[in-house]
Amino acid sequence: MIDYVHKDDTSNVSNLAEGKIVFLTDDITLDEIQKLTALVLTAKKMVEEYFGVKTTFDILICKGRWEMEVQVMSRREGRNTVINGNRRSSTNLRGEYYDLSGSVGITDYRLEEIIIRYDIAKFGHYLHEMIHAVILKDYPQQLREGLAWYFTLKLTENRRYLRQSYPAWVERLYISPVRKLAQILGDDDFLRDFATGRASLEEESIDDEEIQDMFLPAELFYSKKQNPRN
Ligand SMILES: [Zn+2]
Repeated sequence: MIDYVHKDDTSNVSNLAEGKIVFLTDDITLDEIQKLTALVLTAKKMVEEYFGVKTTFDILICKGRWEMEVQVMSRREGRNTVINGNRRSSTNLRGEYYDLSGSVGITDYRLEEIIIRYDIAKFGHYLHEMIHAVILKDYPQQLREGLAWYFTLKLTENRRYLRQSYPAWVERLYISPVRKLAQILGDDDFLRDFATGRASLEEESIDDEEIQDMFLPAELFYSKKQNPRN
């Protein structure tokens, strides 16, 4: 059960272990709160049933580009990495990357929080970030991203209208190598257990550069993708 609280309501700090919904915005009606809570619970249930893992991350709800940017910036702590000239992602001093493209949803692994811009989020966005929350956080950022996308698409296979659209570079950089890995493994159950850390695989034994790149440290991965000839 998720309970929802407003950021000013410090009396409600229960069920922390279960994850809660926190509304950072005041500009939301009770009706919207109810709809959104149902959406979050549906996504949470889908992920927990599929992966067999409980999600405990808090979900922070904000509205509008500005509220989202404040959240992203407050988590950045300094250094920026510009990739391919557009602000595709940035990294803080701990080397964690945040996807800034559109910034509809981000997952903060360190604070164990999911931040969603609810005014433009589709169900797929909630699902995607919820999947992030169950993926082993020790994996390099690009591998987490690839796995999160792969399973977002898989879980919405029969309900494509729930999906968010995504740019071609997401397909190229993240989805395509994981799809290739899934084909080699021939078993999504194994890939699912690998995502949550219940199964491991010897990536060195997979003779495919694109797949092996997914296991590189994130800094190396992005510099390689930025300068393919290096
Ligand atoms: Zn993601």
